[in-house]
Amino acid sequence: MAAKKSKSVRKSAPARPAPARPAKARAANAAHRRTVVPAPITPEDARAQLRELAMNLWWSWNEVAQRPFAALDPVLWHATKRSPLAVLTQSSPAALSAACEEPGFRLALADARAALAAELSRSTWWDDTHAKGRREAVFAYFCSEYAIHESIQQYSGGLGVLAGDHLKSASDLGVPLVAVGLYYRHGYYIQQFAEDGSTKVLYPVYDRATVPVRETGVTINCPVGHSNVRARVLLMEVGRTRVYLLDADLAENTPEDRQLTEGLYKGEPHLRMRQQVLLGVGGMLALRTLGITPSKIHLNEGHAAFAAVEMLAEFRAGGMSHAEAVKAVRARTVFTTHTPVAAGHDRYGVDMVCEGLAQTLAKGGISRAELESLSREKPDDAKEPVCMTVVCLRLASKVNGVAKLHGEVSREMWKGVYGAKKAKEVPITHVTNGIHTPTWLDPHARAFWKRECGFDACAPTARNKGWKRAASADPAAFWQMRSTLRGALVRFARERLTRSAERRGEGPIALDEYATILNPAALTIGFARRFATYKRAPLLFTDIERLAKIVGDAKRPVQFIFAGTAHPRDHGGQAYARKVFEMTRHPLLRGKVVLLEEYDMSVGRALVSGCDVWLNNPIRPHEASGTSGMKSPPHGGINCSILDGWWPEGFVAQKGAKGRYGSGENGWSIGSVDDGTFNEADAHGAAAKRDRRDAESLYTTLEKSLVPEFYDRGRDGLPKKWIARALTSASTIPDFFSTHRMVAEYVEKAYTA
Ligand SMILES: *Cc1c(COP(=O)(O)O)cnc(C)c1O
Repeated sequence: MAAKKSKSVRKSAPARPAPARPAKARAANAAHRRTVVPAPITPEDARAQLRELAMNLWWSWNEVAQRPFAALDPVLWHATKRSPLAVLTQSSPAALSAACEEPGFRLALADARAALAAELSRSTWWDDTHAKGRREAVFAYFCSEYAIHESIQQYSGGLGVLAGDHLKSASDLGVPLVAVGLYYRHGYYIQQFAEDGSTKVLYPVYDRATVPVRETGVTINCPVGHSNVRARVLLMEVGRTRVYLLDADLAENTPEDRQLTEGLYKGEPHLRMRQQVLLGVGGMLALRTLGITPSKIHLNEGHAAFAAVEMLAEFRAGGMSHAEAVKAVRARTVFTTHTPVAAGHDRYGVDMVCEGLAQTLAKGGISRAELESLSREKPDDAKEPVCMTVVCLRLASKVNGVAKLHGEVSREMWKGVYGAKKAKEVPITHVTNGIHTPTWLDPHARAFWKRECGFDACAPTARNKGWKRAASADPAAFWQMRSTLRGALVRFARERLTRSAERRGEGPIALDEYATILNPAALTIGFARRFATYKRAPLLFTDIERLAKIVGDAKRPVQFIFAGTAHPRDHGGQAYARKVFEMTRHPLLRGKVVLLEEYDMSVGRALVSGCDVWLNNPIRPHEASGTSGMKSPPHGGINCSILDGWWPEGFVAQKGAKGRYGSGENGWSIGSVDDGTFNEADAHGAAAKRDRRDAESLYTTLEKSLVPEFYDRGRDGLPKKWIARALTSASTIPDFFSTHRMVAEYVEKAYTA
């Protein structure tokens, strides 16, 4: 079984004729074939081999490399959120000895090793298309958070997920990217709901032995303020991509300095600014100490702006004038902005930044006035603080938003920085976000596309034209796959809800209810994302009676599954979470609307694979891109969304349709565009009106199109129109909205341009 599956992974790797493979790759493949008869192995050797596998996070998107750990201790595997190192450190020696006696385990281990070796030595997209003449190229990617796997809580939300997906696609495509970040002691919080629906914030402390990072032996002294902070540089391997993480939690640092890597986005502005000095300045120092000279740096969001300031200081210290140095930095810097929401852009007092960067500014002889000129929209406005985004805009020559619409909004938003009268004169472009399909795609779905349509949904190529064939999948087989995935989600939700209810001490009646809650055959609609207020999680509950009619129709049952976290200090977002929690207990909605806690990558994965429809109703144009909706179509799910973020690019309107609204070819668009202005200064009344109008549009779409289409069954029991729409969704969306395409676009438009 194990051997057969991993073989199909290998076989399906390149979509086009394989290039001549290096001898090493051929050897690895030959070794792979020999593993049909697994050789005996001692527990010590097995432990060493498992450890090596666990240390490369390639396992996080390649099931073949997870199998030996799952086989070693299936219970621990699930209890540790599928953490290979945790399984390895926590399982008993007896379990390992017993496993070594099992041919199945030995085969899984040998297969995993062979697959990783083959992966690391194969020829890649980069090798084939860009490597020539660029042997020395290294692109350094800076981000404050990375979401690689649910067992490693170093992320809070969409930004981290995007960054993690970027690294994985860079690995799959062979792009010479190294990443820089911070290593957080606590990571982001785990969310639970109290009896009244209020958010409980729990900070897990890691057992560091279970996080797959290696020592590099490199320690840096990062100038922060007037002193130096020691930080060790750790290495996390994500396939081919090396991620260097700085850790300031060292005994020789003051308690205050140790806090710099305590957690994500915690504390007040001063601590946050100092964290960003460590990320930017410390990150550049770390690369230099490691002997890495990036050809480009990519600042993923403004948090990393100080990396560009450090580069500027180096050029100045090397004798360049300010103007020359700015030009040199700009030539090497790429910046991606991620939000049109004003609060999402860090701003600090000039005094605070001058203090935080004192040594860096002194090294480069950069004056306060020069710093101001780089960090203010209007350099002469003495009241303007330092804006991290402005620093990035002024020090990067390649600047982009994360969707076409977000590019437009960003050009309008930052006109002032460029002294431009019209948005179209502003040199900000867009590279639309994507998802790393191998991370998010359920193995059932992957096998389905392979079996029914003959293409590998996870092929390591910039584009995957195989998705076009999804349109011709067999409807009955497709519906079978959907039922399987929906059924798995219903079981997952029951188990999660039961666990939460037990923890809250809810009585046996509630527990009985959760054991059978939700209907595996009902139309299932998902909503999961951060509960930031602009995402309007409670919009669905604008008119409870009307919603009750929709979900309460016994012949056409509809159910909603919600999940999401709000930032610990976002009280508005937490109030929204509480509102959704209360709705799950409303007598008219009970059992039809549920809310899962501890939203993380694994909950996200279960939801995007099982839901028939993915709902997204932000206030336009506040959603820069959003990526959760991109995870649904590869599973045969369909989006129902406001035309915001990526959706205006993904949505295909029906031929001959008058506007861009309502029922399209591959999903639904709700709300309207023309009522949204690009500023937030909407009077309260106008905002309420807009919410009512968007809710009205959502209800109408559900009542008139979405629910009837799901239940319009033919004699064969299949919803023909629904399936056609879902298959169009799969054939038009996943190829483009993939981080493989996105990373290739960054390479072509920014890294090598
Ligand atoms: C995909 C994903 C996100 C991003 O979702 P948005 O639609 O961009 O809000 C956030 N968190 C998790 C766990 C995800 O899987």
